[in-house]
Amino acid sequence: MRILISACLLGSACRYDGMSKGSPWAEALAGEHQLVPVCPEQLGGLPTPRVPSEKTGGRVMTKDGADVTEQYLRGAQETLRLCRILGCEAAILKERSPSCGSGEIYDGTFTGTLTGGWGVTADLLRSAGIPVWGESRIPDLLTGQPETEHTQEDHKRRGLQMRRTDREITDLAQIRDILSEARIVHLGMVDGEKPYVVPMHYGYSLEGEKLVLYVHSALEGRKLDVIARNPNVFAEIDTGEILIPGGDDPCSYSAAYRSVMGEGKAVLLESASEKAQALQILMRTQTGRDFAVTEEMVGAVCVIKVELDWFTAKSRPMQKKAKRHAGAEALLELSNQELFSILAGDRGVIAQAGLHEILKEYRAEHQKIDADLQTMVREILSKEE
Ligand code: SF4
Repeated sequence: MRILISACLLGSACRYDGMSKGSPWAEALAGEHQLVPVCPEQLGGLPTPRVPSEKTGGRVMTKDGADVTEQYLRGAQETLRLCRILGCEAAILKERSPSCGSGEIYDGTFTGTLTGGWGVTADLLRSAGIPVWGESRIPDLLTGQPETEHTQEDHKRRGLQMRRTDREITDLAQIRDILSEARIVHLGMVDGEKPYVVPMHYGYSLEGEKLVLYVHSALEGRKLDVIARNPNVFAEIDTGEILIPGGDDPCSYSAAYRSVMGEGKAVLLESASEKAQALQILMRTQTGRDFAVTEEMVGAVCVIKVELDWFTAKSRPMQKKAKRHAGAEALLELSNQELFSILAGDRGVIAQAGLHEILKEYRAEHQKIDADLQTMVREILSKEE
């Protein structure tokens, strides 16, 4: 494979301090792949040595306060151009650099503090569809497939093994339905050695098998501190939880639900346009409406993008239980049609997973449903009033 690689990883003295950062794996890598070395900062016209720079607020600033964003962008565009002309299929880039960093970069304070984010060149390459790997993935590349080439199925195998595969949902339309219906994501983070979970309203985009969540928060707080130290997160979303009554037998009680969960990385969005777009997605997911997002709104919040490496979806419907109890009293005094017109007019009621399906089945098969279910439907309707 032809791979673009940060020149400093091959021993070129192109770093800001006039030094190199050669990888011990470089020789083995060169033995197996065709490597194309580039230094985006030099390609952008910056001298070597140069004043160190870090990304902050969508710009790249030197330690002494000069704005070098333009040179960084030029270097990124030149790198992408070379990548395409030379037919490079992937890029291995120096981690944490403001040009080459992937997933984690220095936070702009020049204090050695890391934050979630991408270097300017790494970001441009990946948005052009070129897989970008940090140098810590070189051993994976030498022994097999690097992380970013794993499919959703591979990630699931390496992550959560689903015990009840009979409840797994793989149909993306159904998964989209769950994500549109639910309102809250429980975002699990790693605070040092302790777990930290926060429920948050979310927006989502699901393109093919790529699921991205967007959440927002105040401009400072514990979750931002935790993500800055460790961007690894676990996301759990569920909807339609309904108790399935079991009479006098506690072991017969159960619950209907639908859920999506997965693992990935959280990144704080920096550019105003990305933040505005994410907030629009969030509002559309939450309300089903489009809103204009002003500069002032964007400046008042932090927006966190959660890219899931893998996810699974599950459903526990109620049909079986309903069938078991078929033959009891009439569902409600309401006719099917009356009940359906109430349910159809209220998204919140339909969001009670399983209920809609049961009623459909009831109508289709002309079955009677028992008193437990009748009570449950009444409770749901009274809660919604
Ligand atoms: Fe290395 Fe990339 Fe920095 Fe050049 S821009 S010195 S290749 S990390």
